[in-house]
Amino acid sequence: MKKLLPTSTAGSLPKPSWLAQPETLWSPWKLQGDELTEGKQDALRLALQAQQLAGIDIVSDGEQTRQHFVTTFIELLSGVDFEKRETVRIRDRYDASVPTVVGAVARTRPVFVEDARYLRQLTDEPIKWALPGPMTMIDTLYDSHYKSREKLAWEFAKILNQEARELEAAGVDIIQFDEPAFNVFFDEVNDWGVAALERAVEGLKCETAVHICYGYGIKANTDWKKTLGTQWRQYEEAFPKLQKSSIDIISLECHNSHVPMDLIELIRGKKVMVGAIDVANHTIETPEEVANTLRKALQFVDADKLYPCTNCGMAPLPRQVAQGKLSALSAGAEIVRREL
Ligand SMILES: [Zn+2]
Repeated sequence: MKKLLPTSTAGSLPKPSWLAQPETLWSPWKLQGDELTEGKQDALRLALQAQQLAGIDIVSDGEQTRQHFVTTFIELLSGVDFEKRETVRIRDRYDASVPTVVGAVARTRPVFVEDARYLRQLTDEPIKWALPGPMTMIDTLYDSHYKSREKLAWEFAKILNQEARELEAAGVDIIQFDEPAFNVFFDEVNDWGVAALERAVEGLKCETAVHICYGYGIKANTDWKKTLGTQWRQYEEAFPKLQKSSIDIISLECHNSHVPMDLIELIRGKKVMVGAIDVANHTIETPEEVANTLRKALQFVDADKLYPCTNCGMAPLPRQVAQGKLSALSAGAEIVRREL
């Protein structure tokens, strides 16, 4: 990026009420068949326009084509039985009924490649595409086949790499892997989590990012955050290994969170997507608040490597709140840009 402080979002944006129930995660589609295909494309265009109106520099599909950031990807793989469900504890935080891995997992066809092509033809701006990371994928499943989290993660990493290569060929500029699980399973992150992520980006020429956050503003997450104390030092566990990794960009939660900003120093040299918008409340930040968070981050990341962003996805927010937050992000970045 030539422009200083290019803005983007972590991923999801609210869906229109005619496509899925607003302010709800895992909300079922309201359309079916060809109508659903058309509806998703219409929603993608609206999400793109929302970002363009707000002046966001690196745009995305707003995850309009997926029901959930992990399960929609897994749905199209073979080896996973969605009828056979088991209750598991997700990220050590809340119980959910999840599908079961019953055989060797494989990608039988592209998952998001057509959607990415569609977005590409709508805009000349840089586009970012989010995929789930291997560790977060295994944490959203029950495994009765491999019986090893590491083995299953490795299989998913190979599958993600196939998808990522085709997304790159479709014209995606930045491929992002969402790994909120990196904030929970520290030993595994260092044993094989970062290695699996590097397997997923193997051979890519486009830029790659990993997004690590404290989650959407849902109750299970806000309850968990209350147990973390006054300083959230989780990033300290994964950062040293990520700093040495081949991943280009690290996407983080910063604004309104208890993450000590100086932890960013541990990834010096990497590009950093700094979360300057809180997605866990409905209050729209002022541009000055956004600018303040970015100024603090500038102590630990060089200006040409700072990418203003949101803390996480905004799918569960009301649409007008999300729109306001996008505009605040853009305006806040512009304040700091003028100071540089
Ligand atoms: Zn997130």
